[in-house]
Amino acid sequence: MEEWVRYGDELRRPLCLATDLPRSSTVCVVGGGLSGLTVAYRIASKRPDVHVELIEKGDRLGGVIETWTQDDWVCDVAVNATRAHPAFWRLVDDLGLGDRFAPSNPEANARWIYSQGRSQKLSIWPVLKRGPLNLLRGLRTARRGGRSVAEAVPLAHVNDAMTLGIVNDRAANVDADFLMPSMTRFGAEPPIKWKRIKSKMNATYPLFQPNKGATASFTGGMQTLIDALEHELNLLDNVELTLNAGDTTPTAVADQRGIPLASVIWCAPLDRRPDAFTTLNVYVAGYGNDDVANVPVGYGTLIPDPSSPISGILHESDVHGTPRAPAGHRLFRIMSPTPQTGSHETVKAALTKHLGTAEPVVFEHIGVRSIPSYPPGYMASLSSESMDFTRAGWCFSGVSVTHVVAEAERIAEHF
Ligand SMILES: Cc1cc2nc3c(=O)[nH]c(=O)nc-3n(C[C@H](O)[C@H](O)[C@H](O)COP(=O)(O)OP(=O)(O)OC[C@H]3O[C@@H](n4cnc5c(N)ncnc54)[C@H](O)[C@@H]3O)c2cc1C
Repeated sequence: MEEWVRYGDELRRPLCLATDLPRSSTVCVVGGGLSGLTVAYRIASKRPDVHVELIEKGDRLGGVIETWTQDDWVCDVAVNATRAHPAFWRLVDDLGLGDRFAPSNPEANARWIYSQGRSQKLSIWPVLKRGPLNLLRGLRTARRGGRSVAEAVPLAHVNDAMTLGIVNDRAANVDADFLMPSMTRFGAEPPIKWKRIKSKMNATYPLFQPNKGATASFTGGMQTLIDALEHELNLLDNVELTLNAGDTTPTAVADQRGIPLASVIWCAPLDRRPDAFTTLNVYVAGYGNDDVANVPVGYGTLIPDPSSPISGILHESDVHGTPRAPAGHRLFRIMSPTPQTGSHETVKAALTKHLGTAEPVVFEHIGVRSIPSYPPGYMASLSSESMDFTRAGWCFSGVSVTHVVAEAERIAEHF
């Protein structure tokens, strides 16, 4: 019960933990993204007697997380905000970042879907129009396990918009158990009614209590969190942080250090073929307020049309509690899945349909990101049996930052 209150639905996801990990006197964490950084921080701060080595193959920490800035423009290349979960709030609090973490703008909740040439506000109406029976049938099918999101939520456009927005893939290609385990009832069931657990969880948030459905973000973007984790890790005597280092297999990492395989925590992709990822180009477009006065304030628009070079437009400067654009301006983040992108010019031209014909003050390609695929049956294929080494991060049992952060706490709890 205590665990459910601490982690909620995260307990439905397998924890890929090696039983002997907590007996390690030296632990090697592979991958310096949010997962590796948080796992290293949680273990090293709990157990000063355990030596924690973190190795990152690149020349910077943060993995897919990075914040682009230019003068007063600020935009995250990957995740830009977190949904509510006490584990994330606990991390922010423990890192002393409370004064740089704020709820998102409650007036920017609206989401739209652009389909067949028109924009429609996302609401319960399309669901009711297609008939609740249709949905119930989908739900029943999904609970048999291993089904796609398209089967679980039989609402074309809505399901594609949702999965494109979360995992850059079409609903038919995404495992419903992975994306919505509480809906498909994957994994363990809570010991009491979910509503009661939720209300107990709500009482545990440090810093501030989030409103229902709200998100929260950092002054200066997600890079603020990465910088704070790096800073804390550098302060800990039992941590060794190495960039431009890494090996291709957990066995090689263990052998090179003369540690048991069970002392390796793999927080990076593993055994994934190149086609087990999709790719996304990320752009920013900034405008003077008057030039986009017709674009309503909101969270953003999802565009499930495969012939469009754009799959989503996020209203960055509307959403966050702290500024993302110079005074008198608005900033939008554009998501463009490859190979739909075409050229940068194609993407820019497509903006006229959604944001108006004015020339943006800023238009820049700010990054490319590879996103793991999670095909139907993926979650059931993960074992929750004991492993020979520990696996963590978004390449395994959950895609969100709340998952990655809660999982790190769950692993450290075993020490
Ligand atoms: C465009 C985009 C938008 C997103 N939006 C959201 C959102 O709104 N909400 C949300 O909750 N989540 C979102 N996410 C997901 C979120 O960013 C991830 O859950 C999280 O950042 C994953 O962190 P990670 O450490 O598991 O993986 P990564 O960030 O991929 O880190 C893995 C690290 O391992 C390193 N590495 C790889 N191989 C080796 C090796 N052999 N040796 C050593 N190091 C290695 C890599 O260089 C990398 O630094 C988004 C992601 C993207 C790309």
